[in-house]
Amino acid sequence: MRTDISPETEQKICIECGFCCDGTLFRTATLTPGERGSLPELIEANSFEEGGNEYFRLPCRYFKGKCTIYSEKKAVVCSAYRCRLLKSLSYGDISPDEALKIVADAKDLREEATGMYKKVTGRSGEITFREVLTGLSSVVTGDNERGSKAFEADLLIVRCNILEALLIKRFRAIEDFEKLVMK
Ligand code: SF4
Ligand code: SF4
Repeated sequence: MRTDISPETEQKICIECGFCCDGTLFRTATLTPGERGSLPELIEANSFEEGGNEYFRLPCRYFKGKCTIYSEKKAVVCSAYRCRLLKSLSYGDISPDEALKIVADAKDLREEATGMYKKVTGRSGEITFREVLTGLSSVVTGDNERGSKAFEADLLIVRCNILEALLIKRFRAIEDFEKLVMK
């Protein structure tokens, strides 16, 4: 049954989270046909066309810990996207406190996974969870001299699998998951 969750409560959770903007959930966001040409500058600069559809790359350049143009004109998807967590909240399946706890747990796992990835690969600087997942293949195939780092690499893979399962279960809308499966 749908419950009345205030926009402020959802906003509070989104500000804590940011996973749909910062490259944790997705590598790209879909644009509505005709949006290019009148998008915020940094989204426009990060946009591209593929297979007749238009997208912009994530992490979004307006994301600095939170959306820095929240009350300004953004892409349509920015206001329209509602992840599974927000839907669970609006249907009363979870409370606002539970939603915040899920976000906090996922963030902890993400910090752990990205930290382990940097240690295993020697990379530094900002790295998104989607980039970590892409880079996992080189960890698995031995580009990073599995030898002494094999145990750490295996732990990293386990952590990434746990986080990805949590993201699929708690955050990805069913439609998103179906799109990924169909690719
Ligand atoms: S993933 Fe969900 S809770 Fe997180 S910022 Fe996006 S819409 Fe908000
Ligand atoms: S403009 Fe704001 S809401 Fe839209 S993707 Fe960028 S950070 Fe997220």
